[in-house]
Amino acid sequence: MARYKDEQCRICRREGQKLFLKGSRCYSDKCSISRRNYAPGQHGQRRTKLSEYGTQLREKQKTKSYYGVAEKQFRKYFEMASNKRGITGTNLLQILESRLDNVVYRLGFGSSRAQARQLVNHGQFEVNGKKVDIASYLVKPGDVVSVRESKKDNSTIKANVEENAAKPVPEWLEKNAETLSGKVVRLASREDIDIPIEEHLIVELYSK
Ligand code: SF4
Repeated sequence: MARYKDEQCRICRREGQKLFLKGSRCYSDKCSISRRNYAPGQHGQRRTKLSEYGTQLREKQKTKSYYGVAEKQFRKYFEMASNKRGITGTNLLQILESRLDNVVYRLGFGSSRAQARQLVNHGQFEVNGKKVDIASYLVKPGDVVSVRESKKDNSTIKANVEENAAKPVPEWLEKNAETLSGKVVRLASREDIDIPIEEHLIVELYSK
């Protein structure tokens, strides 16, 4: 499980963009990026030009924060992506998107990836009818992710479903709000991933 050393909003401010780590707050005017869009700390307002290495490193850190993945696991995903056919950067994002916590978030059952991870860890979901409480579980095409029957009254999930009723679900997923489930139609393609990440910078960093 990823461990944040910083408060979540500080991570966004460090990266200079919204990473949507806090659910509904991220869409409100309470968002720290809207109020203080400069890096945290005493020298946060100073402009510094990043080196090539610094730029690549920040892109990797941003991506890790976005998906809430620790360095060791992220590196493992990179190895998996390199060994897969196709473009390594796209493969990497596809693997990150396939994590169960991300799928739960994308389906609108969690207000943020962090909350989705917690819900998964607490055993609220099943995949193809079997309980899965591992947030890093990677879904495959055809898998059906559902809220477990005994957990359908969970107030957090209910509130999220209501709040996200109008939120579009990416095309690679098919949501059934009535049964509180979602089907993985196919793996996410690069076009499906609406995150401002320049994945080639991460590939360059790890290829040094
Ligand atoms: Fe980032 Fe959300 Fe905090 Fe805004 S409210 S800075 S998007 S975590």
